[in-house]
Amino acid sequence: TFKALVLEEAEKAPAASIKDLKVSDLPEGDVLVRVSHSGLNYKDGMVIKGLGRLVRQYPHVPGIDFAGTVEESGDERYKPGDAVVLTGWRVGEAHWGGYAQMARVKADWLVPLPEGLTPRRAMAVGTAGFTAMLAVQALEDHGLTTDDGEVLVTGASGGVGSVAITLLSRLGHSVAAVTGRPENADYLKSLGAGTIVPREELAEAPGKPLLSERWSGCVDAVGGDMLAHVLAEMRYGCSVAACGLAGGPKLTTTVLPFLLRGVKLLGIDSVMCDYNTRTLAWERLTGLIPGEMLDAMTTEIRLEDLPEYAERILKGQVRGRAVVVLE
Ligand code: NAP
Repeated sequence: TFKALVLEEAEKAPAASIKDLKVSDLPEGDVLVRVSHSGLNYKDGMVIKGLGRLVRQYPHVPGIDFAGTVEESGDERYKPGDAVVLTGWRVGEAHWGGYAQMARVKADWLVPLPEGLTPRRAMAVGTAGFTAMLAVQALEDHGLTTDDGEVLVTGASGGVGSVAITLLSRLGHSVAAVTGRPENADYLKSLGAGTIVPREELAEAPGKPLLSERWSGCVDAVGGDMLAHVLAEMRYGCSVAACGLAGGPKLTTTVLPFLLRGVKLLGIDSVMCDYNTRTLAWERLTGLIPGEMLDAMTTEIRLEDLPEYAERILKGQVRGRAVVVLE
């Protein structure tokens, strides 16, 4: 048997408990993985607390990303002993995920563990960090260069934000980090942020459709009124990569930043993106972030800590990345 965090349907939020499962309990799939590490992402918080109707069938094993070693494989791309990583494909939502010592998944959903990363560090990156890489890539694809001015990162102390700051700064950009937790200023500076912007400055919808031009790019993990505010402050021709909704899913804005300043709003999806995009993004971010920087943004937790941490991530109280150790 192996240990797993199992969610069962209950009246308000799902009931979470740690159970002993057998391999025969796992759903079908072509690769059986012994999971050593999983990540805690905002979406994991939503799944554990039963928000957003992400899970339709119980009992359910959450965990939207994991790293581990292949135990059995019916697919020629993987053999026992191979180190692998999984993010996305609705694993942990529509399929059983990584909050278990064993997972059975489709081979198509896996990528080989990038050379230079340990499984723990791969989960320090996790879905959040992988998404940050996709966002930075999208900004560059739409013209961001290091000659431009400051690039803003919203939700700075969170998982997406912490990795985005690190990546942008390693690439030579000037980074401004907006945070609601001023006590994290030294942490954000250690990742490479040059300017700390207090959340109050950007939290409200903008008073006018256009404000003074400030940002040459933005990785936005927050959405809502903050995104509307940022759009009104983007410099001419610059782009915002919309990654998240930690501040809410609604966007009330005008089209004026788009029409009068040629501002671009780029949607970032890490869940269904294709294999080549995935392997390229993993390779690039592995080369960019030193392992020690990943360690510095990591808190280790265990399966039994997850219900408490799910609440904390939904309240914006987790700093950097929480990695679940399953070994
Ligand atoms: P996280 O670690 O909780 O980070 C979110 C951060 O946003 C918090 O640490 C906090 O940073 C800030 N924040 C929280 N509530 C806020 C509010 N009401 N107003 C303004 N700022 C607030 O979560 P994450 O795992 O990085 O994910 C961030 C977002 O990206 C989530 O919405 C997630 O669903 C999304 N996401 C999307 C994809 C994709 O494929 N598009 C992939 C991964 C994640 P400060 O305390 O520093 O202000």
